Amino acid sequence: MARTVPDPVEQAERVVRKRLVEVAGPRGAECLPCYLQRVVSTYGCHGTLQWTHRWQGHQRTRRVRTGGLTQGLRDRGGFCDCEVLMNVYDVDPCVPEEERRPCARVC
Ligand SMILES: [Zn+2]
Ligand SMILES: [Zn+2]
Repeated sequence: MARTVPDPVEQAERVVRKRLVEVAGPRGAECLPCYLQRVVSTYGCHGTLQWTHRWQGHQRTRRVRTGGLTQGLRDRGGFCDCEVLMNVYDVDPCVPEEERRPCARVC
């Protein structure tokens, strides 16, 4: 009788997927500009608000209300993740991590 041996490829994929969520997901109480700066500088902006929405989804799991966030960002010129950084928070997403201004909210 053949024993079920864990497929090493499948196992590796699971580990990578888990890592990606850990790396690309918002950390704890990390605020939106800090999170966006981290992921946009690493993974880039896709011309959408996908990272902003991901952050918003994370806030929902923490029971933090972010209703109207997207509209508020658009009103201030943030139509994609990098624009949110530049136009709304006045942050350059290309600044290397060590040269970034510390976040006023300390996350
Ligand atoms: Zn912050
Ligand atoms: Zn963009």
